Amino acid sequence: MALTKYSRRSFIKKSTLATAGTGLAFNSFSIPGILSGKQRRVGIALMGLGYYSTDLLAPALQETTTAYLAGIITGTPAKEEIWMKKYNIPRKNVYNYENFDEIMKNPEIEIVYVVLPNSMHMEYTIRAARAGKHVICEKPMALNAGECRKMIAACNESGVQLSIGYRMQFEPYTQEIMRLGQEKVFGNVLQISCGAAFRNTSVDHWKLKRSMGGGAMMDMGVYPLQAARYVTGEEPVNVSARSYVTRPGTYTFAEEVMLFDLEFPSGCIASLATGFHANFNYLKVFAENGSFELEPFSGYRGIKGKTSKGILEFPDINQQATQMDEVAECILSGEPMRVPGEEGLKDMIVVDKIYNCAVKAEG
Ligand code: NAD
Repeated sequence: MALTKYSRRSFIKKSTLATAGTGLAFNSFSIPGILSGKQRRVGIALMGLGYYSTDLLAPALQETTTAYLAGIITGTPAKEEIWMKKYNIPRKNVYNYENFDEIMKNPEIEIVYVVLPNSMHMEYTIRAARAGKHVICEKPMALNAGECRKMIAACNESGVQLSIGYRMQFEPYTQEIMRLGQEKVFGNVLQISCGAAFRNTSVDHWKLKRSMGGGAMMDMGVYPLQAARYVTGEEPVNVSARSYVTRPGTYTFAEEVMLFDLEFPSGCIASLATGFHANFNYLKVFAENGSFELEPFSGYRGIKGKTSKGILEFPDINQQATQMDEVAECILSGEPMRVPGEEGLKDMIVVDKIYNCAVKAEG
């Protein structure tokens, strides 16, 4: 299933090129972002110019072929000039959080990419949708499942598409692991062990505050959760979890470590770990007739993997560029998103249960 979806990308690209080649739909002189004789490009505005936008998304947008960096939304005036100069962004495509809703009048920006603290995802996704913009919202989708439902409803009401920034689903090793699990290539999947954590040395950041969507579970924990869901292709029926703090002076307002177990309808059990306490990143899957694994499984580059039959070999792609190009292609073609809002919601339904369990365990 996953590979079929992956190959769909080249089909969409070809059909988009064919449409542009007719010269009927698009005028390369009047609409910015259109390259004469080539495929139409889709303008993205990055909202929130912190670590992920600065270090990963903006550089990736220099490698995209369908999406391009058309604008920015920032609350820090000093960043405006720097970004305008560095990425050749016109002043009319620069917004702040006060005048953001005026983006509605700007046809050059078709997608708003929300890269803000998690507690702000709902408000700005809904505002972007009401301004008539398609939205990519970073993971985790929001603070809880209730917020996710409101975001999906707002996008549906406005007739815009919503995609969540789960870059791994665009990555070929991950797609192969999904195929091996979901198609039961090694028989039924019996046990999944997966962890994503790093030693976080920050002492004062929103990611350390639960009220802002912080905590290891929200930041890194969604990767093992996603992995267990995309390997099985199922939703868990039982959840257990326990949170830990090893540095109490720093982790006063959010968990530092979360260990959680999921049980799936097929009987598969997933034993999952996340944290800000140690560096690890692995995915191991044990099935009836063999095993398969990735390590690292959720890094930006250099994913590596093997099965009980041999080494896996796929290209080492720019995940963010591939993700944003495919989202842009879906907008041009009207194809459904690979990672729609509903996918973010499914994770948050489980995350809500994990926090509920962990809080009970603490009490
Ligand atoms: P960051 O703290 O580096 O950046 C957040 C940005 O939001 C900053 O520019 C900050 O100025 C701005 N901001 C606006 N209002 C704010 C407020 N009230 N408080 C704090 N900041 C405010 O964070 P980041 O690491 O770039 O994360 C942003 C989003 O991207 C999060 O949802 C995170 O989970 C996600 N992310 C995803 C990946 C990935 O691989 N998909 C990687 C890193 C981060």
